[in-house]
Amino acid sequence: MADTMADTWVTDITHYLDEDGRLPDSLPVQARRLAEYLGSIVVAVTSVPLDDPLGIRCRRRPGRKPCRGDVAAYIVDDSSAIRWICPACEDNGFISGWSDTIWDCRASEDAPRH
Ligand SMILES: [Zn+2]
Repeated sequence: MADTMADTWVTDITHYLDEDGRLPDSLPVQARRLAEYLGSIVVAVTSVPLDDPLGIRCRRRPGRKPCRGDVAAYIVDDSSAIRWICPACEDNGFISGWSDTIWDCRASEDAPRH
């Protein structure tokens, strides 16, 4: 996995999940890390009020130093994909297939938000 240039990651997050909708133990560590990172973006987008910071630090390490960018993300209006981007290093991508996964927090809409 090249880590020197910003790429656009297009991910169907269901590819990481088993038939029970969980991350299987057999998932390689790198894939699991990426899935959990993308999952945390889905959690933030579906649970954090609009315009509030998502609180997700960029996962990239350009020049082996952690990127200091705070990832921004939103649900694309005319599709079901989530668009995410790090404003610092421009690492970015789209997540599809997140609806009704373990990370989709919209199901708890009736519950009071923190
Ligand atoms: Zn970054």
